Amino acid sequence: MKINVLVNGAFGRMGQMTVATLRERGNFALVGQIGREYDLKKVIKDSHADVVVDFTHPDAVYANTKTIIEAGARPVIGTSGLTMEQIEQLKIQCEKLKLGGIIAPNFALGAVLMMKYAKEIAKYMPHVEIIEMHHDAKADSPSGTALRTAELLAEGSDHLNQPEKGSRENVKGARGANYRHVPIHAVRLPGLLAHEQIIFGSPGETLTLRHDSIDRVCFMPGVCVACEKVMTLNKLVVGLEQVL
Ligand code: NAP
Repeated sequence: MKINVLVNGAFGRMGQMTVATLRERGNFALVGQIGREYDLKKVIKDSHADVVVDFTHPDAVYANTKTIIEAGARPVIGTSGLTMEQIEQLKIQCEKLKLGGIIAPNFALGAVLMMKYAKEIAKYMPHVEIIEMHHDAKADSPSGTALRTAELLAEGSDHLNQPEKGSRENVKGARGANYRHVPIHAVRLPGLLAHEQIIFGSPGETLTLRHDSIDRVCFMPGVCVACEKVMTLNKLVVGLEQVL
């Protein structure tokens, strides 16, 4: 049986590639491709979508995900911008309906592996900062991947960057944003796609993990895995690693 997949944000950069990829795969039926002008709930019902992939905008992703769940479809969310509080609400919503869902801050296998090993390294090298670099059309900062990385680092060590170094910022923001005790520095430039460096420091040495997405094609195997595996879940999970 084919899995009915609807793509929301289908005319954007990620959406277009997702549509093309799903069309090539025999196990999916692409039942719709929509943008902001559509009534999401109605399209889900009319198209009998099992799964809705969302690559839209950080301002819209929470409302979209709520709507997808209310309509009884399984959300596969690639859009960045969901807060931890919003994710908790969405988890409750899915749990009530015993509905699967996946929020994937990054669908690229290399990025998922980078985050997995970063959590392990943080146990031994808790002094760490993140530099994330993206194309200049990215709507938000820091990236969802950087925030997720910081959360995983915080799971790996409960004394990240302690004691805190109180150096004076001569220009506000010079030390980056601070999330879960991890400084995050966001670079936005034409010519970049999506890149992240996690730099660990100990006396006399540093260790750098770096991931580079050089083509959006890197996200597609992860999107397909998520669309398949979400059918087997009965709760909402965060991170592609949960279903690999
Ligand atoms: P994009 O090129 O700007 O595409 C977004 C599309 O969504 C546009 O067509 C936009 O339409 C549409 N849209 C905006 N608001 C909408 C709404 N309320 N309902 C339906 N459609 C709406 O952006 P992108 O580069 O594809 O990235 C989309 C999101 O995915 C971003 O949050 C990005 O950070 C994230 N991302 C995630 C991954 C991952 O691995 N998880 C990888 C890459 C990107 P308009 O043009 O009319 O605004």
